Amino acid sequence: MGHQFRKVFIAGLTTLVLILHPSAPLQKETQAVGPSDFTKPYAGVYPVSGNRRMLVILLRAQDSTESVSRETIRNRIFGPAQSTSTYFNEISYGRFNISEAFVTDWLVAQDDPSTPNVNESLKSFVHKGGAPYEQAKAKWLIQAVDNQTSFNWSYFDNNKDGWVTPRELLILWVYPGGDSGRSRKADPNVIQVDGLKYGVKIPELARVGENANWRTIAHELLHQVCKLKDLYVDGSLNYAGVGPYSIMCASGAAIHLDPWAKMKLGWLQPRVVTRDGWYSLNDVERTPQALIVHDPARGTKDYFILENRWPGTSHDSLAHGGLVVWRIEEKHDNPNSDWGRETIDRIWAQGEPPKASRVRDTCPGNGISVFKGNIPGVSYALTPTSSPGKLVWRDGTSSNIALWFYSEQGPVMRVYIDVPPRRSTPPLYYEFKKKPLTLEKPVWPSPRSTKPDIKRVPKN
Ligand SMILES: [Zn+2]
Repeated sequence: MGHQFRKVFIAGLTTLVLILHPSAPLQKETQAVGPSDFTKPYAGVYPVSGNRRMLVILLRAQDSTESVSRETIRNRIFGPAQSTSTYFNEISYGRFNISEAFVTDWLVAQDDPSTPNVNESLKSFVHKGGAPYEQAKAKWLIQAVDNQTSFNWSYFDNNKDGWVTPRELLILWVYPGGDSGRSRKADPNVIQVDGLKYGVKIPELARVGENANWRTIAHELLHQVCKLKDLYVDGSLNYAGVGPYSIMCASGAAIHLDPWAKMKLGWLQPRVVTRDGWYSLNDVERTPQALIVHDPARGTKDYFILENRWPGTSHDSLAHGGLVVWRIEEKHDNPNSDWGRETIDRIWAQGEPPKASRVRDTCPGNGISVFKGNIPGVSYALTPTSSPGKLVWRDGTSSNIALWFYSEQGPVMRVYIDVPPRRSTPPLYYEFKKKPLTLEKPVWPSPRSTKPDIKRVPKN
C-alpha cells in the first residue's frame, strides 16, 4: 500500500491532497462506472438548456382588483437584481436563461357569450379550484391575451411549423392576491390563436398570486419547465422533506436547487468517487460540483450525492453551510407518480424531523442538518451504523460507505470518503497541529489557508 501526493488547484490555491490507494487484494472486480450512469434522464426529467422567452399574463376577474403593478412584477421576474431570471442563470451555471417576451398590462376577464351558463369574468370562475376547473384556465388565459392584446404569437414560432410550444415560449399567469403558486396540467392543451396555423401548445400552466416573490415563481417554473416534483412534507407525513436545501422543498426561499435536479437537467457534471481518500468540494453557488458515492456491487440506482453549501452573497442564503448528503433511490421512474419524494431524500446530521413535528405542505428543518468538522454534534463520522445520521440505503440496508472526516464549513470543503470495501477503523493518517484526530474536533485548517498544516504520521 503506497501513498501518492498530488498537487491540485482549488479556487486558485495550491493545496496538497493525499490519496490513499485501496489495498489491491480487497479490491473487487467491477465494471467501470462514470458520470453518465447517473446523469441519464429519469421520470421525465431531461436536460434543459438555452434561452427561453416568457410571456407573463396579468389577468384578474372583473370583481377583483390588483395591488401590485406590472412594473413591479416585471422587475421581480426579469430584473437585474435578484430575480427569477438571475436565479435561473446562477443555479444552471449559465446554461438555462429566461428572458422577457412580453408582460401584459393587467387584463380584465371577459364573459364568453358562447357559454351562457358560466360567467368567465367573475371570481367564482377565475378562482374556482379542483382539477377540471384549474385545467381549463389555460384556454381561458390564452384566449384573453388573444382577444385583448396585439400579442404576435407567430413571432415566437421559431421553426415556423404553425405551433408555439413551451420550447419556444413559456407562459405564466399572475392573478391578484396571494403569494403562493401552483402548476397544473392544461386541458385542452392546444389553443387556437390568431396568426398560428395550429395554435399554442401548453401542456402545463404555472400560475402565482401577485405577491409571490421571485423564488416562488422560480419554484413553479421548475415544475412547469423542468418537470421537477415537490420535496416538502406530504399529506401522509411519512416524508420528512429535504429541508431548506432545495427550492423544491422551501419554495419561497432564496436557496439553490438540489444537486440531483441540477445533474439531471444537465447543469452539473458530477464526479464519481471510486477510491478512498480526501475529496474537495467548492461551494455550489459558484461552482457546478458534486460527488457521487455508491457501491458498484449494488448498481447505480442507489447512491449518495455530496455537495458543499456555503451561504455566500448571491442566491443561496442558507442558515447553515456545510456538507449536504443526499440519498437517491432511482426505482420510481414514473413521471405521473409522486416520484420526487420516493427518489430523493437526505441524511440529516442531527436526525430527520420527527414525524410528530411534521406539518403537511411545509419544509421543516431540524437543527443543523449538514456536516462540518468544526461544530460538535455534526462532525461525527458518518457510517452505516452511526447515529443519528447513518449511511444506509433507502431500504435500510448498509451502504458499506463511510465519511470519516470533514473540514470546517467554507467556500471549499474537504471530506474523507471511504468507498466499499469499507475500512473497519478510521484512517488515522493525519494529525492536525500535532493533536490526534478525534471525530468531534476540527480536523482541517481553513481551506483558504496557504499552508496545509498537515503532517503525515506513520500508520499503525
Ligand atoms: Zn411545488
